[in-house]
Amino acid sequence: MWFKALKWHSDYCTRIKDMGCSLAAEDDEQDVFTIQIRLSVMQKNDSLVVRISLMDNPVQLYRQAYEIFDVQSYMVCIWDFSGQMTNFFERDGKIFPYGGPGQAAEEALLELQVFGLPSFAKDAEVKITEFSMQERSSSGGSCSSWPSKMNGTVDNQSSSSPLLSLQSRTQGHGETGVLGLTGLLNLGNTCFMNSAIQCLAHTPKFLDYFLGDFKKDINYENPLGMNGELALSFGDLLRKLWAPGGMPVAPRLFKSTLENFAPQFCGYNQHDSQEFLAFLLDGLHEDLNRVKHKPYIQLGDTEGRPVDKVADEHWQIHLARNDSIIVDLYHGQFRSKLVCPICKRVSVTFDPFMYLSLPLPSTTMRTMTVTLLSTDGSVLPSSLTVTVPKYGRCKDLIQALSTAVSLQDDETLFVAEVYSHCIIRSLENPSDSLALIRDEDCLVAYRLPKESESGYLVVFMHQRCERQFGFRIGRPHWSLFGTPLVARIPSISDGTQIHDAYIKLLQPLLNMDEDDYDDIENSDDEFTKMGSGSLSNSDNSWSSDDEMGSDFYVPSDFQFHISDERGILRGQRLKLGKPLDVPVKTTTVNVLVSWSKKMLRRYDTSHLSSLPEVFIPIFPDVKPQESVSLYKCMEGFLKEEPLGPEDMWYCPSCKQHCQASKKLDLWRLPEILVVHLKRFSYSRFLKNKLEAYVDFPLDKLDLTGFLAHDSGPSLNCYRLYAISNHYGCMGGGHYTALVYHGNRWYEFNDKSVEPVREEDIKTSAAYVLFYRRISD
Ligand SMILES: [Zn+2]
Repeated sequence: MWFKALKWHSDYCTRIKDMGCSLAAEDDEQDVFTIQIRLSVMQKNDSLVVRISLMDNPVQLYRQAYEIFDVQSYMVCIWDFSGQMTNFFERDGKIFPYGGPGQAAEEALLELQVFGLPSFAKDAEVKITEFSMQERSSSGGSCSSWPSKMNGTVDNQSSSSPLLSLQSRTQGHGETGVLGLTGLLNLGNTCFMNSAIQCLAHTPKFLDYFLGDFKKDINYENPLGMNGELALSFGDLLRKLWAPGGMPVAPRLFKSTLENFAPQFCGYNQHDSQEFLAFLLDGLHEDLNRVKHKPYIQLGDTEGRPVDKVADEHWQIHLARNDSIIVDLYHGQFRSKLVCPICKRVSVTFDPFMYLSLPLPSTTMRTMTVTLLSTDGSVLPSSLTVTVPKYGRCKDLIQALSTAVSLQDDETLFVAEVYSHCIIRSLENPSDSLALIRDEDCLVAYRLPKESESGYLVVFMHQRCERQFGFRIGRPHWSLFGTPLVARIPSISDGTQIHDAYIKLLQPLLNMDEDDYDDIENSDDEFTKMGSGSLSNSDNSWSSDDEMGSDFYVPSDFQFHISDERGILRGQRLKLGKPLDVPVKTTTVNVLVSWSKKMLRRYDTSHLSSLPEVFIPIFPDVKPQESVSLYKCMEGFLKEEPLGPEDMWYCPSCKQHCQASKKLDLWRLPEILVVHLKRFSYSRFLKNKLEAYVDFPLDKLDLTGFLAHDSGPSLNCYRLYAISNHYGCMGGGHYTALVYHGNRWYEFNDKSVEPVREEDIKTSAAYVLFYRRISD
């Protein structure tokens, strides 16, 4: 155990009226200049204030200090960080700059705030002399001062310290209580802010920093910062929250400073406490960035180097440009791996993070992954993922997809379910329920021109000849493959339009590096040759199920046949230039295309295979309304997933944006781990809150299993110390904070502060969790 004493000496000479009960009467008039010293004991949050008059002999004070704290003198170290004096007390108690004759005459008081009194709080014989001790009760509102007696044993209840006891001997007068239990006034829907501030105000080290001399770190040159204004007003607010006297604080000044930095928080609308937190920490970081001139550092070549080295290099570059208390405490590092769905190129990067945003199982929304196919032959198939109301209709899905692909006014989407290489259902009826589509289904959306809506919808299915195994070994067998392609053709008079449309659809699949590249130009001629009737076998033998008979042959190009929707031949082989007999009322024409080996080489058909399923559940074993563990949410967060349509990745190999699959891993963990539970889902149509109950550990969150590299198990465990809660629905609702303070939990509900039982703190209102690393 060690003590760190911080002195803060407000530049504007804080005049504290409330000097404790015994002095209160005179002090109100006298404006005594006080110096405040805060002693903090790491690991615990108990606190009290000790006030020392500088009229007293400092040596004696020092001795008394360590007697009070029940520690050996060498363990006590009081430092002054104000810059006005150094070594206020040294270990041997010999240097006392304030003991000078001139200053001693002043009515200066020392104020010691002591945080964390493990032994002291329990059974230590507490001797207090000339010290005025103050405490504040958890009742938040009513407080009273509690002066101590000279050299007397303060009545020391055996199990709990009188200093921490909530009993006050001077009820109704002044204020009482443990420090740090001050509420924040609601200025009008500002509970989102109050909730987040209380969590930060009880973050160890972060608090120490702001109560200390943080001003030396202010970066006045940073154009991204606020000239230190945000940091100053935040520090000021924290001091008020931790000052004795504990009337609820109105964070007006802070709010108006914040509004200058982040104008979205102007006015008195409800906001998201997590969003506020992220902005505030970013703003504080910019204000307090010790790096005045960010160096530009070129990352070395990462190819073939040990991944640990690369990660460290990324981290060092981050630290060279960002150095603040925010980075020290809150920043961790991810490894993020992107895989191009087309060329399978892998890209690994290491990015810093400030909090983890974990997904929750949705009971009302679902994400659907759909394969998008262009019908103008311009781009390769790609998959995209959209969020839709779980009990929505087909029109919701089509609407969401249209938005995601920025569909033009002259385009429509034809969405269909594909099974066994055929379209088995089209989602034409906008009022059909989405519940008809299962997670394991495969959906395809075809982007079609609108103006030709009056024409024919031609569905192409593909078949190829495969060698069979078993007793029919060596005999060719025709079978369907790939995803059907669709084109809209204004009028079909003969086979040429069908052929041309198909060639156009295949355009993006062309293998440019194939040997027969030269043939591409005259492929039409070849087809003409073949299509003009040189191959005149029986059309009916082209069934996908029947093996070829004695008149077996392999086409040298494509063969087109009218079929049914399952690719079963309907008997009509299409020939170029020959009139096509399409029934009058037909709007959809199914065409089965037989591929020659040559064509299979010419085109890369892998783009048409392996369609993604609609949804691969993150939480396969969690049913709606059940609780989900925080670890499951972590798994969901780190699970490999396709990027959303709004954050496509530019693949340097394919030279285009694609919906790459992304896999995150934790690489480096911060001292303070902020975990955001994504309760709010925003889609274009619906804003929704997930009420899932998340079962999160209080005493030990062990992240060892989620780290992508071994950093030693001891640094991966966390203890919960604060929660930002959200009650009610989106937009409205109410935020509170739960904070672990002095060996118990308190609820900070705007101005009111009440103790809560530990068994009551885990609720489905938990929104942002604050964990601190267990260091011992
Ligand atoms: Zn690629």
